[in-house]
Amino acid sequence: MKSQVFAFLFPWVVLVAQSMEPDGKPGSHAQRGFTVASIQSPPTLEQQKMDVTYYGLELDIRPDSKFFAGSLQIRANIEDTSITHLEFDLRNESYLLVASATLNGGSVAFDHSGNLIRIALPAAGPKPTSVEVHIDYTYGPVSATNYRPFNFDSHLGQDLIWTMSQPYDARAWWPCKDYPADKPDSMDMRVTVPGNMTVVSNGRLVSIQDGEDGRKTFHWHEGYPIATYLVSLAIYPYFIWGDEYVSAAGDTMPIEFYTFTDPDSPEPWYLTSNYLKTKDMLYTFVDLFGEYPFLDEKYGHAEWGLSYGMEHQTITSMGNPTERRVAHELAHQWRGDMITCATYQHMRLNEGFATHAAALWFESTGGTAAYRDKMNSLAYYGSGTIYIDVPTNSNVFRPGICQRRLGAPHVEARGWGFNVLSNPANLRRQPPI
Ligand SMILES: [Zn+2]
Repeated sequence: MKSQVFAFLFPWVVLVAQSMEPDGKPGSHAQRGFTVASIQSPPTLEQQKMDVTYYGLELDIRPDSKFFAGSLQIRANIEDTSITHLEFDLRNESYLLVASATLNGGSVAFDHSGNLIRIALPAAGPKPTSVEVHIDYTYGPVSATNYRPFNFDSHLGQDLIWTMSQPYDARAWWPCKDYPADKPDSMDMRVTVPGNMTVVSNGRLVSIQDGEDGRKTFHWHEGYPIATYLVSLAIYPYFIWGDEYVSAAGDTMPIEFYTFTDPDSPEPWYLTSNYLKTKDMLYTFVDLFGEYPFLDEKYGHAEWGLSYGMEHQTITSMGNPTERRVAHELAHQWRGDMITCATYQHMRLNEGFATHAAALWFESTGGTAAYRDKMNSLAYYGSGTIYIDVPTNSNVFRPGICQRRLGAPHVEARGWGFNVLSNPANLRRQPPI
């Protein structure tokens, strides 16, 4: 669904985007330990001729052997009848094997090379206006817990599984058109795991079904458009707790926390106290940005194996939950998740917005001095450009630039740019300050 994705083209937005990073650790994104292969390129010509409308992903996960069997359903509309092949991104790795594919219900030949799955469309006759593809594949067994986008990890002696696909790594564990400019309208995740584990994913939990050998299948449905890099799994015998948000219109939405440790004896000690600020942050950001964009579903955190956060849609993966980080990742739900940069050349818009929003949270609790303190602590006057010419590797998160480059004079402009971004109606009723 391409229409939900916006590339920001207006220069005033830069005032907002040149902001700070989340936790006072310069370049936290860039230091994420990415081993991202430099395989990002624009969508292929053939990919540009189709618009994905739906993904249905089924995984049968075997943590003991660090393996899963995957089955994926893809629906797409054909937008250019000159198309000859369907092409989906999937890395060529020895542990990632495509077993079979079908096209509109019939078996079809495929080629998996060059980090693409290619399926030829019938040469004769008119091209279909829409296609449905099924792809069966396997992942693993893999060794140990090397950092990969799909991680077989452990915590406190128990299996922990988590994913991290930003920026280019959804294709490292499931076939997809892996570009943020083409979101499916919706997505289903059906994930089967040992019965002691809880699968956490995007959207709302539809069902939990018992299966063979005490295993369980969790079905999550994301009913809003979602970029592939925001699709997440976090799987562990979690403690599950939370709160509730009530909109001004009276709609209720769960706030769900999936944590390693009991909230009554949290580890680290500040976990619970900072998590519990999420509700107030929601109300604050709703006031600033408009209604929470995934109100029919949820917002929450799931702990994972990294020491920072990732704004997966409706369910942030959370490590080291400082107050600033909790606010930053929540703010991404509006910018990054609901509104997504069409390309990573504009990543500073996601990160600048969220970093700035965290400062606004501190302003709401500590006043103007707190806001200025946060902003000034992150001002950046170094080199570099905020537009990323070649977004072929993790440099899209270049430290200092995409989140921090906001000099003090610009602070005064934030109210204008910020409110324009939040609500176009403000263009008419709220002059610059
Ligand atoms: Zn961020």
